[in-house]
Amino acid sequence: MATLLTVDEARRLILERVTPLPSEPVPLADAAGRVLAEAARAAVDLPAFPSSAMDGFTLRAADAPGRFPVVARIAAGHPAARPLAAGEAMAIATGGVVPEGADAVVPIEVVTEEAGLVEVPSVEPGAHVRPRGGDLRQGDVVVEHGTVLRPTELAALAAAGVAEVACARRPRVAVVTTGSELRRPGEALAPGQIFESNGVMLAAALASAGAAVEAQVSVADDETEHREALERGLEANVLVTSGGVSVGPHDLVRRIEQELGVDEVFWRVAVKPGKPISFGVRGSTLVFGLPGNPVSALVGFEVFVRPALLALQGARDPGPPFQPGVLGSSVRRNAQRDEFLRARVRSDGDGVVLEPLTGQESHMIARAAAADALVLAPRGDGELEAGSRVRYLLLR
Ligand code: AMP
Ligand code: MG
Repeated sequence: MATLLTVDEARRLILERVTPLPSEPVPLADAAGRVLAEAARAAVDLPAFPSSAMDGFTLRAADAPGRFPVVARIAAGHPAARPLAAGEAMAIATGGVVPEGADAVVPIEVVTEEAGLVEVPSVEPGAHVRPRGGDLRQGDVVVEHGTVLRPTELAALAAAGVAEVACARRPRVAVVTTGSELRRPGEALAPGQIFESNGVMLAAALASAGAAVEAQVSVADDETEHREALERGLEANVLVTSGGVSVGPHDLVRRIEQELGVDEVFWRVAVKPGKPISFGVRGSTLVFGLPGNPVSALVGFEVFVRPALLALQGARDPGPPFQPGVLGSSVRRNAQRDEFLRARVRSDGDGVVLEPLTGQESHMIARAAAADALVLAPRGDGELEAGSRVRYLLLR
């Protein structure tokens, strides 16, 4: 048997075929999870003015300690009407504008105020004053292009006055699940039939990778049904199928795709589960043939499809985002194929320990649902001992 492609080789072949999608303006409120297509710059200094970090009193540090008349009360959003003069104090709230002439804030907890006078201990210049531009300057880059926008980045952009960002378009994705035995949950099962579970998994996983799932259909192992569904699916940016890519007489996906003009880039990868995965292109459309076993489809998605979707959106690092950890119990390695084991993640204080679950077969989606991670057990001989350093992908 010819040697199979490695996971890394297969991923490289996929990423080579990706042309990032054009960008579009996106209101910040809709930008969570989107990928920034160009650097976003601050519209204002951040903070935009010297602002108080505490509720307290503002004054000149050089005047303190002493007892000072309270000549104004500054709330957030309501600056003082005039500068502060020597020997004066002003009450100030957190976020209030520190007036011209003042250079320090004394927290309310350390003063005594009585009859319009406040008694203040000594204070360093600049104490509890957030200087203008201390976080960021107007025109500075707030978030670099290629960043997947998380809540913190959205907050930084909003704080910097950015209302709209340029993001890569969402990849339009079609999902076609194949198999005459598949019925929708809720329907009655005849003997030999099973509930279709890859469609809902793939649709949710695709959405979490920024894709817009345009169509999700299930077809029988029938040439005409395949041809119709695949032809339509090929109009998307990405077509993801499940099932029908093995060597059985009812596995039609690759042949029909070929008839429809798909150029197959590879078929089969040295990965477990998920070996029969196929990948091809038609024009700029990426075509993934995931195997039908649910855990194989899951692994194929996380290792190959998600990175392709992020690359389509111009993500700086399309992943997959492997993290280091330690294996909690020993596992037997596969001699030929890199294996992704479903595991529970726990912390032992020093770091992450990965406990492989029982029930590692590729049809065992219910067992897989208890997993937090896919642990990479590189191919090789013998056991991978408990305590071995491994890499894993978090399942979110
Ligand atoms: P296949 O890759 O088509 O040979 O399918 C492999 C195994 O996965 C078979 O046991 C199928 O019944 C099962 N399977 C295929 N597609 C699905 C699906 N969408 N949902 C659940 N199981 C599936
Ligand atoms: Mg099948």
